[in-house]
Amino acid sequence: MSDMWNERMRLIRFRRKHERTRFREELRIIPKWLVWTCIALYVLALIIGLSVNLHNFGTHDGVFPDDSLRNQPFLSCLGLGGVITAVAFVFSVLFWTLGYVYRDAKRRGMNPALWTILVLILSGGYFFIGLIIYLLVREPLPFTCPQCAATVSARYNFCPNCKYNLHPACAHCQREVADTDKFCPYCATELTPSKSPSVPAAGDSAT
Ligand SMILES: [Zn+2]
Ligand SMILES: [Zn+2]
Repeated sequence: MSDMWNERMRLIRFRRKHERTRFREELRIIPKWLVWTCIALYVLALIIGLSVNLHNFGTHDGVFPDDSLRNQPFLSCLGLGGVITAVAFVFSVLFWTLGYVYRDAKRRGMNPALWTILVLILSGGYFFIGLIIYLLVREPLPFTCPQCAATVSARYNFCPNCKYNLHPACAHCQREVADTDKFCPYCATELTPSKSPSVPAAGDSAT
């Protein structure tokens, strides 16, 4: 259990260190058809709502919000448009969030359906709690091996293609260091280049 926890924390640290997510680029993950469906439904609701409302001014049917605005069609339509816009906005953001989670979980090798349902359920009571939990615990994206450019999972310790040490550790204190570090930032031990397999071997020999 604590091993699983440590591994999870290690992956989260790894993701925070290596992933620079930009909001605009993240938005592109949302499926285009979902974006356009929401926009089309919004426009449709606006057209239907406003034309029914305008039509009712001619007849004696009820207008938005009630008969107090019967002699002010512009205000009535403005209010109705505002209500439709607000409702459409809330639902669109919810659907786009779910679309994002589905695609993002998929590219990170997580279970997309499970996470989408989880975020949906948690969004019911507290909007965005599910999304925040997802963003905190999601797996790191697969990345390319710095040596051979093969796609590797962040869970790998070594590249399966070229044996490159993907998570170089300090031979002295065993803490993870960056590829480019010349000295361990924790204990100042001089680091040998990570390409030499002696660094991980020294770390693993303790077990
Ligand atoms: Zn490699
Ligand atoms: Zn060290």
